[in-house]
Amino acid sequence: MSGELLLEETLIKRSQQKKRTSPLNYKERLFVLTKTRLTYYDGRPEKKFKRGSIELSRIRCVEIVKNGGGSIPCNYKYPFQVVYDTNTLYVFAPSQNSRSLWVQSLKEEIKDNTVVFMKFHPQLWQEGVWLCCRQAEKQALGCEEYNLFGDITRKPLPPIPGEENKRRPPPDPPLSEEYEDEDADEDDDNNDEEVVVALYNFPGAEPHDLSLVKGDEYVILDKCDVNWYKARNMYGEEGYIPSNYITEKTSGNLEQYVWYSKQVNRNKAEELLRTQDKEGSFIVRDSSTPGAYTVSLYAKSLAGEGSAAIKHYHIKEIEGSPKQFYLAEKHLFNSIPELIEYHKHNAAGLVARLRYPVGKQDKSAPSTAGFSYEKWEINPSELTFMKELGSGQFGQVKLGKWRAQHKVAIKAIREGAMYEEDFIEEAKIMMKLSHPKLVQLYGVCSQQKPIYIVTEFMEHGCLLNFLRQRRGSFNLESLLSISLDVCEGMEHLEVNGFIHRDLAARNCLVNDALVVKVSDFGMTRYVLDDQYTSSSGAKFPVKWSPPEVFNFCKYSSKSDVWSYGVLMWEVFTEGRMPFEKNPNHQVVMLVSQGQRLYRPKLATPALYDIMQLCWHERPEERPSFSHLCTMLSDTLEEDILPPT
Ligand code: ADP
Repeated sequence: MSGELLLEETLIKRSQQKKRTSPLNYKERLFVLTKTRLTYYDGRPEKKFKRGSIELSRIRCVEIVKNGGGSIPCNYKYPFQVVYDTNTLYVFAPSQNSRSLWVQSLKEEIKDNTVVFMKFHPQLWQEGVWLCCRQAEKQALGCEEYNLFGDITRKPLPPIPGEENKRRPPPDPPLSEEYEDEDADEDDDNNDEEVVVALYNFPGAEPHDLSLVKGDEYVILDKCDVNWYKARNMYGEEGYIPSNYITEKTSGNLEQYVWYSKQVNRNKAEELLRTQDKEGSFIVRDSSTPGAYTVSLYAKSLAGEGSAAIKHYHIKEIEGSPKQFYLAEKHLFNSIPELIEYHKHNAAGLVARLRYPVGKQDKSAPSTAGFSYEKWEINPSELTFMKELGSGQFGQVKLGKWRAQHKVAIKAIREGAMYEEDFIEEAKIMMKLSHPKLVQLYGVCSQQKPIYIVTEFMEHGCLLNFLRQRRGSFNLESLLSISLDVCEGMEHLEVNGFIHRDLAARNCLVNDALVVKVSDFGMTRYVLDDQYTSSSGAKFPVKWSPPEVFNFCKYSSKSDVWSYGVLMWEVFTEGRMPFEKNPNHQVVMLVSQGQRLYRPKLATPALYDIMQLCWHERPEERPSFSHLCTMLSDTLEEDILPPT
């Protein structure tokens, strides 16, 4: 009965004056109260446009407003207030009776809310000050006890002794035509408010951050940056949160549920379920058919089969209005969450009940784009060093911890190895490149020598060694999955117009979950070493370069695609050196004559075709990374995984 209409009346709403300087305005709105929401509309009951809506569960106080003698600049003279989250909505009723009815009805509906105020402000917030207590902080604690069960409309409203004159509010600006049609303030109040759910915990690193608690809801206030949003929690606290830690709370979005895992294919699902080895473990995942979902379910003792078995059930849809879903015939549901909920308690045709969701809760939180919003300078005293990981072109790399708990890789840049100033400028941009398949740059310590570059720590080190050390242990699927990881990271660089310039297995890293990520993107531009940067230099990556690069140093995303083809070749040879027997100058000649790397034994002809597409002489003929990702995931589904 959530839609049940309780009250409906045209009242006047004051704009919320979120900015101190924005002028107030007053608008007639059709207010509608139901069991769950207070919504206001523009227009008449027959033809109305929603302008704002407040969930009753978020209301902290409803009370009449004591008007300390100020003139009310609109025709309705009986104000009341609705405080929700950290906002106050002032509404003006046409009569004492009307106001009393609204206040009492709203109070009745919020009486079980847990967020209700102990104290409130009995008068208006106006021009940057509370007229009742003159506090100039909008979030200042209320100055009078709030009685949810009282009815202050029945009492006379005494002026506060000695304060009558002081508190007289300045005259309000008259209701002006000027603002009539640009109720911008209203539009961003609360209609279409984006509510999200936290997928992971996030302990805010800096005072301007807002900590996230997995499963809690937040309101997005400002998408100030692709990686960091300003948000508000249920206690009204505001701050920055990482955008990759949340998901939209809309009914169709399955990501908010623990039982749903987005990028898990059939094989991976089986692996996860087997590791759990629990009767009734299940996972809901995307089917190989786009837009469809599959439930993979583990049953230990299947009659007649003796041993454990995994069943994959397509969630079937019946078109219509509303759309319906089912797993087993005769049990229809209006949504997938309802269907899952039902089968948690009833096997109803499945081999077991859906008892234990598997997958997401075990996943560790992804990296954030830096440790906090707009923070790229890291205080070196907050770093501790643990052990040496390796060394490269720029110097030594060490494992360390940031603030004693967050493992990081710290590169100490050798004196004279890098154009440091240029890099530090660029680092601010590179930090924004945040993707699950890119090694995250967390920040730099640029105020010291040597400067440090702090990045995500990758437990298994560089991909080339990883392949070489485990030769013979890879199957087609694992090699394909490595290639796909790199391709996804590169796709993110491509869509952001960022060129890697030195893509190769040695510049990818592997973490403890065996996810491969692209590293060192764009870094060659800051190398101070001719042998590395000049195409005739001994360290120039000729074997990974297309003709337009070794001839004219013409870099593009398409030159990265060529290198990617060579990287795929490295993957499918489990870490062999390309053109093993040829020195660089011969490779230039061979490639210019049209010769290419041979097909690795572990690569199917279809996969070798993909590599060859990357090695097209003309850059514009090479596929894009997004096209490559599609081709590779299709190969993964078709060649390796049997149909569901
Ligand atoms: P450079 O950029 O100076 O050439 P590299 O990035 O190649 O240095 O790093 C040298 C070695 O240090 C790598 O081969 C790898 O073994 C190790 N290493 C570098 N970065 C990381 C990291 N983020 N996590 C774990 N090991 C790393």
